[in-house]
Amino acid sequence: MKKLVMIGNGMAGVRTIEEILKVAPEQFKITIFGQEPYPNYNRIKLSNILQGDTNFEDIIINPLDWYKENNIELFTGDAVTKIDVEQKRVISEQGRVVEYDELIIATGSNSFILPIPGADKIGVTGFRDIEDCEMMIKSSKQYKKAVVIGGGLLGLEAARGLLNLGMQVDVVHLMPNLMERQLDPIASSLLKTELESQGMNFLMEKETVEILGDDQVKGLRFKDGSEVEADLVVMAIGIKSNTQVARDSGIYVNRGIVVNDFMETSVPHVYAVGECAEHREIVYGLVAPLYEQGKVLASRICGNVGEPYQGSVTGTQLKVAGVDLFSAGEIFEDGSTKSIMVYNEYDGVYKKILTRNNVIVGVVLYGDTKDSTKLYRMLTKKEDISGMTSISVLQSECTGEGGSDDVASMPNDELVCGCNGVTKGAIVEAIKTQGLTTLDQVSHCTNAGRSCGRCKPMVSNILAYTLGDQFDAAAAQKTSICGCTTISREELVEEIKAKGLTSVKEVMNVLEWNNEEGCTKCRPAINYYLGMIHMDEYKDDRDSRLVNEKMHANIQKDGTYSVVPRMYGGVTTAADLKKIAEVAEKYDVPLVKLTGGQRIGLFGVKKEDLPQMWEELDMPSGYAYGKTLRTVKTCVGAQFCRYGTQDSMSLGIELEKKFERLDTPHKVKMGVSACPRNCSEAGIKDIGFVGIDGGWEIYVAGNGGVDLRPGDLLCTVKTQEEVMELTGAYLQYYRETANYLERTSKWVERMGLEHVKEVLADEATRKALNERMDQTLRKYIEPWNEAIQSEEIQDKYYAKRMITVGSESK
Ligand SMILES: Cc1cc2nc3c(=O)[nH]c(=O)nc-3n(C[C@H](O)[C@H](O)[C@H](O)COP(=O)(O)OP(=O)(O)OC[C@H]3O[C@@H](n4cnc5c(N)ncnc54)[C@H](O)[C@@H]3O)c2cc1C
Ligand code: SF4
Repeated sequence: MKKLVMIGNGMAGVRTIEEILKVAPEQFKITIFGQEPYPNYNRIKLSNILQGDTNFEDIIINPLDWYKENNIELFTGDAVTKIDVEQKRVISEQGRVVEYDELIIATGSNSFILPIPGADKIGVTGFRDIEDCEMMIKSSKQYKKAVVIGGGLLGLEAARGLLNLGMQVDVVHLMPNLMERQLDPIASSLLKTELESQGMNFLMEKETVEILGDDQVKGLRFKDGSEVEADLVVMAIGIKSNTQVARDSGIYVNRGIVVNDFMETSVPHVYAVGECAEHREIVYGLVAPLYEQGKVLASRICGNVGEPYQGSVTGTQLKVAGVDLFSAGEIFEDGSTKSIMVYNEYDGVYKKILTRNNVIVGVVLYGDTKDSTKLYRMLTKKEDISGMTSISVLQSECTGEGGSDDVASMPNDELVCGCNGVTKGAIVEAIKTQGLTTLDQVSHCTNAGRSCGRCKPMVSNILAYTLGDQFDAAAAQKTSICGCTTISREELVEEIKAKGLTSVKEVMNVLEWNNEEGCTKCRPAINYYLGMIHMDEYKDDRDSRLVNEKMHANIQKDGTYSVVPRMYGGVTTAADLKKIAEVAEKYDVPLVKLTGGQRIGLFGVKKEDLPQMWEELDMPSGYAYGKTLRTVKTCVGAQFCRYGTQDSMSLGIELEKKFERLDTPHKVKMGVSACPRNCSEAGIKDIGFVGIDGGWEIYVAGNGGVDLRPGDLLCTVKTQEEVMELTGAYLQYYRETANYLERTSKWVERMGLEHVKEVLADEATRKALNERMDQTLRKYIEPWNEAIQSEEIQDKYYAKRMITVGSESK
C-alpha cells in the first residue's frame, strides 16, 4: 500500500481525503498531521459560534471515529516542521518522522496581524480558529469595549458576534466603503446603514498605527492622531497563506505554494491544496474553489487522468442576520462594461449586473438575493444574454416559467450549494435513486448545505418539488439521528419501546437503517437509548460506544492513554497517594497531573499497560472519559473551614458514590460548596450545591467549558436527603428526555427551566423518577476490575496490536 501523508487537518485537506476514499478506498495508508488539537471542524461556522447560534461539537465535520473507521492515522496537536523532500519524509514538532510516497500540504492560512507597535498585547487576536473564538467569548465576560479592525466579511461577522456577546463594538476600516472588494458604494452604504441600526459603530478611513496599553490592550491610535478605547481588538484584515514549512523545505512559494492545474508543486510527489496554495497567481479564501481543487487533486493522486483545475469565480455572502447580500465577479464598470441596475430605496433593495459583450461578468445584490444562483450560473457559464431584456435578466421571469424559487424552472446544472459545488440535478438524482425524504439525508448524501448552510431553503424546495405529493413538510425538516436514517430521537425512543427492540443491530435492522453498520453518530446514541429504556436487562454494546468509553481510558494526542482513578469528593488518603506514586514510578509515567476535577491523572500510559496498572492501583475508574458523572468537586466545608455552614465533603462523597458509572446523555459534573463563597465553583457545574444557613441551594445547567454559563437556581432544600432525592429525579429526567450528546445546559434551555421545576415539584413524579434511577444504578459494574478479571476483554481491547488515533475532543 502506498503511503500518503497530509500536513494540515482542515477543511480543504480533509475534503480531499474524502474524495480520495471515494475513488480508491484501499490505495493508501493515510497519515494526517494537524496542528490544532481537534478533528476537522467547519471553520465557516466559527462566526455562528461567536454569534451564539451553535457550539463546537456541532461543527465537527469528521469526528475521531471517522479517522479510525477509515484507518487514517491522525496526529492532532502536532505540527510538521520539516519536509525532507530527498528522503520523502516529514518531521514533526514532537519528533515524529513519517515517510511518504505522496504528500499533500494543506496548511491553510493565518490571520494577518498588522505589524504595528502593541500588536502583541494581551487582548489582541485574529479570527481564525476556535481558540480565537474562545478568547473573544471570554473577553466579553470580563470587558465591555471591542474594536474590530477590518470592515470585510470576517470583520463584520466578528463584530456581529461580539454585539451578540453584549459588547460595544467599533469597526475600524481603512477604506471609505465596507467590503469594498465585493460591493460597490451603493450596496456598501446600504450594508453600513443596516449594521448601524443593529448597533455597530463605524470608524471609516482610519489607519491604525499603534495599539495602546501596558500588558493589556487599552485602545488604538490612528494615523490622524485620534484614539479610541478598547479592551479587546480583533484584527480581521485578511489572511496570509501558511507556507513556512513548504518554503523551508525548498518548495517554490510565491504568495502561496505555487501549484499547476493538477495541484502539483515544484517538487515531485508533493501537492498543495486549499488556502495555502496559489493557482495561476490566485490564492482562494472560500471553500467552494478549495473543494474543487480537492476533487482534481484526489483524481490526480489516485492516478486518474481527470479534468485540470482551471480556477474559479467565487460568490460571497455575509452570515449576519438581517443582511441579505450576494456578490460575484467584477463589481466596477470600466470602458468595456455595461450595467443593468435596479435600486429601490423604499425597500432597501439594490441589484446590479455588469456585462461585457452580452455576457454577465459581475453581480451585486443587496436586500433580495433570490436570483443569486441563477445569475451566478449565467456568470460562470458565460451565457449569452442578448435575447433578454434588461428587466428579464434581473427578474426571475427570464425563464418564462415562473420565479427562480420555482424549482421546475431551474436547469439541472444550476449550482444550488456553492460551497460544495452541488447542482440541482445531483440533488434530484440523489432523492430519486436513494429514496431520500429529509433535508438531513440530502445533505448527508450530496454534501449540499454542509458548509455555510445558506442553501438549505432551496434544497428543501427541491425536495418538495421532487417528491411531489409524497412530500411531508414537517417530516422533511425533522432532524434525524444521523444520515443512516430518517428517524428522529423521539421516534427512535418510541419505536424501541413499542417494538421491544433490544440490541443496536436489531434497531438498525427493524427500523431499516440505510447503512446497515450504522455510523459513529447513531451507534453510541442507540446504545445509550437502549440502556436508558431497558434499565436493568440491557447488555451494553461496548463496541458501539465512543472510542474512549470503549477503552475506559482517554486516548491522548500521541496515541497513549490517561489513567484517572476515582477520588470521591476530591478526598484522598496517604495510602492511595502512595499507590499512585508507586505505579507512576514503576510504569515510568511521563506526566502526573492534578486535574481540574480534584484528582490525579497519570498521562502517557501505553495501552497494553492499562490492565496491569489498574490492578496495581486497586482503585475504581474515575470515568474521566465517559458520558457519565465525572467528578463531584467539593470545598473543605464545615469540617474544617471557619465559613462553612454545611458538610460539603460528605455530601459530595455521597453524591459521587451514588451516581458514579451512570450512563447519561453527556458528561455531568457536580460541585458542592459549604457556603456562598463557592470555592468548588458549584455555580458553573451541571448540578451545583451551595450551603446556606439551614439548607442547600441547588443550581442546575451551569457550564464552565466553551459555552460558559452560570447555573440557574432550581430550588432550596433543607436536608441532605432532599438533595439526594432531587438530584436523582433531576438526573433521571435529563436521561429520559435529552438528546444523546446534549449537555444539561442546552437541555434546560430547550426544555425551559420552569418546566423542569414543575416536573420536579410533583412528589409522585419525583418518586417514580428515583425508582427508575435506582433500578438503573443496580446494573453497573466496575469496568477496570472487569477488565482485570477477563482475559477476553484484555485480548480484545488492550493487546498491543490495536491501531491508535489522536486525542478525543474534551
Ligand atoms: C470565521 C471564518 C468564517 C468563514 N466563513 C466562510 C464562509 O462563509 N464561506 C466560505 O466559503 N469560507 C469561509 N471561511 C473560509 C474557510 O473557512 C477557509 O477557506 C477554509 O477553512 C480553508 O481550508 P484549508 O483546509 O485550506 O485551511 P484550514 O481550514 O485553515 O486548515 C488548515 C489546517 O492546517 C493546520 N496546519 C497549519 N500548519 C500546519 C503544520 N505545519 N502541520 C500540521 N498542521 C498544520 C492548521 O492548524 C489548520 O488546522 C471562513 C473562515 C473563517 C476563519
Ligand atoms: S465555600 Fe465557604 S465553606 Fe467552602 S471552603 Fe470556601 S469559604 Fe470555606
